[in-house]
Amino acid sequence: MKKAVFYLLTAIILFANCKKTESISTKPKLVIGIVIDQMRYDYLTRFADRYSEDGFHRILKNGFSLENAHYNFIPTYTAVGHASIFTGTSPSNHGIISNNWYDKVLKKSIYCVDDANYKTVGNEGIVGQKSPHRLYTTTVADQLQLAQNMQGKTIGIAIKDRAAVLPVGHTANAAYWYDAGDKNQWITSSFYMEKLPTWVKEFNSNNKANDYLNQTWETMYDIKTYTQSRADDNVYENNLNGQEKPVFPKDLKKLREKNGNFSLIKTIPAGNTYTVDFAKAAIKGEALGKSDFTDFLTVSFSSTDYVGHRYGVAAVETEDTYLRLDKDLAHFFNFLDTEVGKGNYTLFLTADHAAVHVPSYLQSLKIPAHYMDTEKLKKFLSEVTQKYFNATDLIENVSNYQIFLNKEKIEALGFNKNTVAQRLADEVLNFDKIYKSVTARSLQTTNFTEGIMHALQEGYNSKFSGDVLMVPYPATLNGSRKGTSHGSGYSYDTHVPLIFYGNGIEKGTSTKKYKIIDIAPTISNLLKIEAPNGTSGKIIEEVLKK
Ligand code: ZN
Ligand code: ZN
Repeated sequence: MKKAVFYLLTAIILFANCKKTESISTKPKLVIGIVIDQMRYDYLTRFADRYSEDGFHRILKNGFSLENAHYNFIPTYTAVGHASIFTGTSPSNHGIISNNWYDKVLKKSIYCVDDANYKTVGNEGIVGQKSPHRLYTTTVADQLQLAQNMQGKTIGIAIKDRAAVLPVGHTANAAYWYDAGDKNQWITSSFYMEKLPTWVKEFNSNNKANDYLNQTWETMYDIKTYTQSRADDNVYENNLNGQEKPVFPKDLKKLREKNGNFSLIKTIPAGNTYTVDFAKAAIKGEALGKSDFTDFLTVSFSSTDYVGHRYGVAAVETEDTYLRLDKDLAHFFNFLDTEVGKGNYTLFLTADHAAVHVPSYLQSLKIPAHYMDTEKLKKFLSEVTQKYFNATDLIENVSNYQIFLNKEKIEALGFNKNTVAQRLADEVLNFDKIYKSVTARSLQTTNFTEGIMHALQEGYNSKFSGDVLMVPYPATLNGSRKGTSHGSGYSYDTHVPLIFYGNGIEKGTSTKKYKIIDIAPTISNLLKIEAPNGTSGKIIEEVLKK
């Protein structure tokens, strides 16, 4: 009897211990941050019927989906979105205020990741002269490097340089992007290394892009079944050079010469497949997720953005691109299972911004939508300064809906900068298409807690931004009546998917409103590391396993 009790107790203790070890979640061996360039939240629902079980549906069903996740700042552009996802803060802190902006000190327009201090690694060109030096705060990948005494590996991958460089940050082992044109090479910058690893050289020599470009882009299913989109032939879409109408099929082999040769791959769904090919090669080549330390990989899919710009939100081309991306993701997730191991990785998927329906299409449906003539706006502003200050050269630059004043000139003429700025902010409301305006001074002295003014404030950087900020009406774009874009603080640009999946992540959904800057502190908490140094987002508790 005593013996039986002893065995029973031993069994209970063993069972309890076993339970205990099971409930201690071990850290993921690899974290993957996936960004889909220009993905609207409703692409998850609009095309859901034809997404595969292994793609979007897999992470939606087995992960945690935040259905009301938004950008909290203006402008919603690629560089700004990527920087904010991974730094957990807004442009007011991290310093990336647009893709290109007017530099007040250099007195010229600059590009977010250009850095002439570094060379291209991989070829003799200038496409690799990049670094994250304009990003003033750390990323979650930087914090992981610091926490592990630089013993994990962190790598950024995208066709677009800014979408590869900004996410991994300052301490990255590598960021790789695609030098298209006639080069057809994945390259990097001497900021990261002196020569390409063997696996990158091998990948470049296999010339996979050529195979993709020797095909014809046809719809994956019968084109008659693309009922979520407008008719294939319509007046709201831009076209590839050399095609009479923006329709299927698209004979890529014939079209590539007129569309920048290898640059064509950036603007078709195969660009996403090609990105997965490279990401897989990186995981194998660098043995990511195989050491005792946690590695961090960022993969941004750029082709969705090129397709979106050219054809718009309601195009068959866009629908087909997402159905194909779903297949690429399914393939990638299955690869992660076999290569890194189910349960060994955590991933999140989001977008760097969404997009507006083609404004001319909205107009055809009687929904208010507009086109802005920037040259007219500049002329109007110059007339204002002429009228009130008897000078036409008080404005140095107008870009990204911001006015940069010529402070030297204003001082020389004996005017007060704030008076000039306030006058412009008041008068510009008389310009057709400008809906709201605010001076930098107001943003520095008032705390806006919600709405468009709050979004402007979060996007406003007191060191780099302009002196007057303007907001156009909803659904306003510049230039062409065909195709679409993004950049505003309206919900069609701010609402994006946000799904967490894998090690340490609960299953579920939430309709609570979250900010994209909440991602980095959430991942930092999952990894039990210090959050990025400028973090202003909050931990999304409900996605994390207790
Ligand atoms: Zn983008
Ligand atoms: Zn874009």
